[in-house]
Amino acid sequence: MRHAEIIAVGSEMLTPFRLDTNSLFLTEELNRLGIALIRKSVIGDDRALLRDAILEALERADLVIATGGLGPTEDDLTREAASDALGRRLVPNDQVLDHIRGRFARMGRVMAPNNERQALVPEGGQVLPNALGTAPGVWIEAGGRALVLLPGPPGELRHIFTEHVLPLLELRAGARRMIHRLLRVAGMPESDLDHRIAVIYKTYADVETTILATPEGIEIHLTLWSEDLAAAARRVDELAGRIAEALGEAVFSINGETLDEVVARELTLAGATIAVAESCTGGLVSERLTNVPGSSIFFRGGVVSYSNEMKTAWAGVPAALIERHGAVSAEVAIAMAEGVRRSTGASVGLSITGIAGPGGGSPEKPVGTVHIALAAGQGTRERLFRFGGERDRVRRLASQSALEMLRRHLVRARQGGS
Ligand code: AMP
Ligand code: MG
Repeated sequence: MRHAEIIAVGSEMLTPFRLDTNSLFLTEELNRLGIALIRKSVIGDDRALLRDAILEALERADLVIATGGLGPTEDDLTREAASDALGRRLVPNDQVLDHIRGRFARMGRVMAPNNERQALVPEGGQVLPNALGTAPGVWIEAGGRALVLLPGPPGELRHIFTEHVLPLLELRAGARRMIHRLLRVAGMPESDLDHRIAVIYKTYADVETTILATPEGIEIHLTLWSEDLAAAARRVDELAGRIAEALGEAVFSINGETLDEVVARELTLAGATIAVAESCTGGLVSERLTNVPGSSIFFRGGVVSYSNEMKTAWAGVPAALIERHGAVSAEVAIAMAEGVRRSTGASVGLSITGIAGPGGGSPEKPVGTVHIALAAGQGTRERLFRFGGERDRVRRLASQSALEMLRRHLVRARQGGS
């Protein structure tokens, strides 16, 4: 098996309110087995459209996975559409029916007649038991190709895929595998980055290089498909190493780790503790510092000192200093970082004050102006940033830059600098 298609079934995913995320999980798993995704589609709850989508997908791919539409209600039509597409009757399966009845009995409820539909299996289909819900998955082979039906709820989908689909695919997957490495870079514009590394990755034409900019850093994806796993891994790691060397300190991760995880690891390694005083980010930095399990080792606490009064009361910033320089100023950022470090006894104090917008800007301090300060035993550093974009982007970039300042401080301290 080399080529797969995914069909996400459900009218809700054709509205602005729901996104198909199951295909992301499935794609990662398929790629790991060396199976490439050639197309995916979202189809509403319409039997004829769904039947056509399944038929067309089976023409192009040797594996088709449909997710969703296996519920008990009238709009769940994937079973019926698969039966139409393959010309196989739907047959009630007694074991599935017992399983569904048993689930209801354990919950002290009576099974609704509708749920009987969930025990219908296209003739010749192999039932993939669902320990987490009522609808089982189904594996059906036809004309040398496989059609797999999986329920929509993400937890059930993952469970059935891992327990029952993966073993079947492993038997059929070829020797080809995908090698993927993800590098993350902070504090560098995308164009600078590409300018520095394009000359390198262009000499590795066999490796697919994709650069994606996000407020949480630039991602560099390196992908190589090969039957020789060891040689491919060496090749991709060689390229990753050369890129990391060219970008230096800006690379914070060569194995997909997020900045949150890297900072948590560095803090733990250093035996450092941290406290945060945030204004325009409203707690985002504290959220990201506590995102990682084990954060109680290093995170002392954080204050959202949004108003001037709370900057004074909670972060120890003298009112006169705010009066003189304004709440968004280097002086106030420094006083916030030093104040929160002093009051918590943390080894590092980190602070952010800025203008997220859309209002509140002035010619001297336009929207996107952000001061970040870091106070430590070695002294206090402060940096002025001017971020472009909307409120959400300014806030995310501010939290990212604060964590990046913290990371560089910790790395330099570890390497013996200051
Ligand atoms: P269904 O199997 O159609 O009854 O789907 C049940 C629920 O699973 C839906 O209400 C969604 O919340 C979720 N769901 C269905 N398809 C997807 C998908 N492709 N990605 C993420 N969630 C999904
Ligand atoms: Mg549905």
